[in-house]
Amino acid sequence: MHNITKLFDFIFYGLFPKTCVHCDSLLKEGEETLCFKCQFTIISYPFSWGISDKNYITNKFQFRMPLKKAASFFVFENTSAVQSLIHDLKYKGNQNIGKWITDFYLDHDKKTFFEDLDLMIPVPLHPKRYKERGYNQVDVLCQSISGITCVEYGKDAVKRMKYTTSQTKKTREQRLKSMEEVFAIPDKKMILDKNILIVDDVLTTGATVESLGNTLMKNGAKSISILSIAVKM
Ligand SMILES: [Zn+2]
Repeated sequence: MHNITKLFDFIFYGLFPKTCVHCDSLLKEGEETLCFKCQFTIISYPFSWGISDKNYITNKFQFRMPLKKAASFFVFENTSAVQSLIHDLKYKGNQNIGKWITDFYLDHDKKTFFEDLDLMIPVPLHPKRYKERGYNQVDVLCQSISGITCVEYGKDAVKRMKYTTSQTKKTREQRLKSMEEVFAIPDKKMILDKNILIVDDVLTTGATVESLGNTLMKNGAKSISILSIAVKM
């Protein structure tokens, strides 16, 4: 590294010291986003990304939507480092976390997961929420993945028409009812005959992803797969 860059870093970090998004301790050299101690506590999704057509997520969607395959980076637990990551990503504008996840966790084996997929589609936010937040929390993650795989990022392939509240306290029937006609596809040619990967931040009930996937299938998608940052198991 050039001395001038080192000097800049020295001054910059002196003025704006970076802290761990989970425990708030000052980050040391080599640490980014999370301190190594917190990073060590992260629970990875305990299923293979290479053989990904049968695992916890594909089982979860059985009889709800035909899935080609599914994977997740992490397991979501309350008060965990993963929860802090997602919180910073969604509510504190820390979009760099998407890049950090691909840099640290998208290893060679995981990259094979993307080989037979064509198009990544984020779970879209309603325009009102998009305006409040200014970004979709999976944008940077998808852009980073797209940069190192052959999968295109269809950022605006699907529009969200309905503003839905939290799905977790509703019954399955109520959830399905409230998710009817939530999504619209402005340009159907874009998804026609494509192997689509839906990207979500945290998978819980899966009602939103189920509705999105079924909308895509009805409109001519070839297959649906799922990737989440974290899944509640
Ligand atoms: Zn920490």
